[in-house]
Amino acid sequence: MRKVSIFGATGSIGQNTIDLIARAPEDYKVVAVTGGANVRQLAQDARRLGAEVAVTAFDQHLDDLRDALSGTGIEAAAGSTALIEAAARPADWVMSAIVGSAGLAPGLEALKQGATLALANKETLVCAGPLVLETAERHGARLLPVDSEHSAVFQALVGEDMDAVERIIITASGGAFRDWPVEKLAGATVEQASSHPNWNMGQRITIDSASMFNKALEVIETKEFFGINPDRIEVVVHPESIVHALVGFRDGAMMAHLGAPDMRHAIGYALHWPERRDLPVPRLDLAKLGQLRFRDPDPARYPALRLAREVMQRGGLSGAIFNAAKERALDHFIGQRIGFLDMTDAVAAVLDRFDDAGGLIDAPLTLDNVLKTDHLARQWVDDAVLRRAG
Ligand code: NAD
Ligand code: MG
Repeated sequence: MRKVSIFGATGSIGQNTIDLIARAPEDYKVVAVTGGANVRQLAQDARRLGAEVAVTAFDQHLDDLRDALSGTGIEAAAGSTALIEAAARPADWVMSAIVGSAGLAPGLEALKQGATLALANKETLVCAGPLVLETAERHGARLLPVDSEHSAVFQALVGEDMDAVERIIITASGGAFRDWPVEKLAGATVEQASSHPNWNMGQRITIDSASMFNKALEVIETKEFFGINPDRIEVVVHPESIVHALVGFRDGAMMAHLGAPDMRHAIGYALHWPERRDLPVPRLDLAKLGQLRFRDPDPARYPALRLAREVMQRGGLSGAIFNAAKERALDHFIGQRIGFLDMTDAVAAVLDRFDDAGGLIDAPLTLDNVLKTDHLARQWVDDAVLRRAG
């Protein structure tokens, strides 16, 4: 039996992970499951999986979680320290599917105890790539990609030499507004941004797909995970979301990864790696699909991609700043305090402010410094939003 933990169990990736694990209960011993405010779901999953401990990220939900688990013998806990303690419990495989930079500290802790970390939480690598890789190496732990594009690249690279890789191309659906006139984007509503043409995901990543902040994070994630020079990473808009990524080699050959847009493929690949096992995902009928289209992303429509390039060039803590500013700007967009395009403006302004402030952005890449700059970046987004409102 493999010991597994699921961080962010109540979310979209978490529920898909549980779906796979619950199909073979005899193969897994579930250690920890974690969630946020949805403690009813969390308790239900903990019971169904026979978990050792269930953790809600938020203290105010502890009593409800305790009530929902009473008589089961399953431990209940709450708060960020409890999340880290849960990540320190020995497990063979840990799913990192918390949304946002809140996933970083538990992920690092799981690596420290030597677990294989299945990384859906791309923010982990965006905020602290070198620190995360170094932690994994020091503790003999393994990182496996779960983001569909990165899982696709990882699979295309099996048996290949990184020296033979010329380019990595990740695809983007183009999100909710790919066919909107650019002039209309400023007036896009939260509801309009929250529907994805191909994937069924959490609300935050769905809006990030519409703005392409998601792809911006993924370009940085690609650089960190595969250690490839940023100018060898390309993004192509592919409205069908069937080809998830391509790797181009020095001999001109390209290996593409195709699959139905169902995250259980990437999750299952990471769960069973290095084996391939049966997965309950839809099979492709290429003749029925008929065509696969590709086009360059329009820089005017997707300014977040340019910011990602600047961040990779800038280095240091700029990934953590970029991500935190994006998260906070997204909070304000969801709260209807700023418009859709204001998100990019706010993030760019905060990156500039850090540049002007000097020092901070080049502080050593430690968890402490990431959390400090993360906090400050959010504050500076708030400042910018307040100033506009005033
Ligand atoms: P989601 O919003 O559906 O779920 C997020 C999970 O994190 C929930 O369990 C929630 O309770 C928990 N959570 C929220 N705030 C938290 C906090 N402050 N501290 C601790 N836990 C918190 O998100 P999702 O769509 O499942 O995405 C999860 C991660 O996976 C994200 O990093 C996302 O970018 C990545 N990802 C998702 C998909 C997808 O298909 N949904 C695909 C690729 C990558
Ligand atoms: Mg992705």
